[in-house]
Order: sequence, then structure tokens, then C-alpha cells
Amino acid sequence: MECLFCKIVNKEIPAEIIYEDDNFIVLKDIEPKAPIHLLVVPKKHIPSVNHLELKDKTLIGELFLVAQKIAKEKGVDKTGYRLTLNVGKDAGQTIDHLHLHLMGGGKLPWA
Ligand code: AMP
Ligand code: ZN
Repeated sequence: MECLFCKIVNKEIPAEIIYEDDNFIVLKDIEPKAPIHLLVVPKKHIPSVNHLELKDKTLIGELFLVAQKIAKEKGVDKTGYRLTLNVGKDAGQTIDHLHLHLMGGGKLPWA
């Protein structure tokens, strides 16, 4: 499997994983664009939103609940945060394994 996030999920390459459960990891983005910049990554390899199937609906609901939990743990639920999910080339998706960006900890661009 050539996918970077699958390799991180499988602990084949190191990453700063701050949370893990049966279905998700949350890691620090290697090039943070905000004081807090985390990536919520389902362990299942789904290339993008374009590839979601009906059977993934619970997983996608849980994706946002994990983001909510981590936002609370980081205290940005009070100050605000941004969840970004890039799909495809024009949106700047560089890793073809679905992931949710969680950014906060300061005023964000475009806010
Ligand atoms: P996207 O552009 O939505 O595909 O986001 C990919 C994100 O993954 C970017 O913000 C990168 O900085 C981040 N990234 C790339 N390689 C790594 C890595 N090895 N560990 C953590 N984050 C990474
Ligand atoms: Zn993958």
C-alpha cells in the first residue's frame, strides 16, 4: 500500500498521533497552517468524498464526533475552529486518503 496515511495508520512511518481509537487517528499536521492544525483520519482507506458509499455513513458521522471531541480537549470549542475537507486537485487535496483538517488556536485567514 503506497498511501502515506495508511502507512501512518499502520505505524510503518512515524507521526505525532495525539488520539487513536478503533476507527480513527488524529495527528499533528507536519506543516501547520494554524497554531493548532490536526488531521482526523479514518483508518479505512477512502480516497476522497467522491468515493464515499452508503455503508460509510456511520464512519463519516463519527469523523465529526471525533473532531468535536478533540476540539473540546484542545479548548477551541469555545474560541472557534475550522474543519476543512479538501476534495480533488482544485481544492488542493494532496493525500488521497480522506481526512478532516481541524484548525484553530488563533484567528484564521478568511475568518
Ligand atoms: P490535503 O491538502 O487536504 O490533502 O492535506 C494534506 C495535509 O497533510 C497537508 O496539510 C500536509 O501538510 C499534511 N501532511 C503531509 N505529510 C504529512 C505527514 N507525514 N505527517 C503529517 N501531516 C502530513
Ligand atoms: Zn490510505
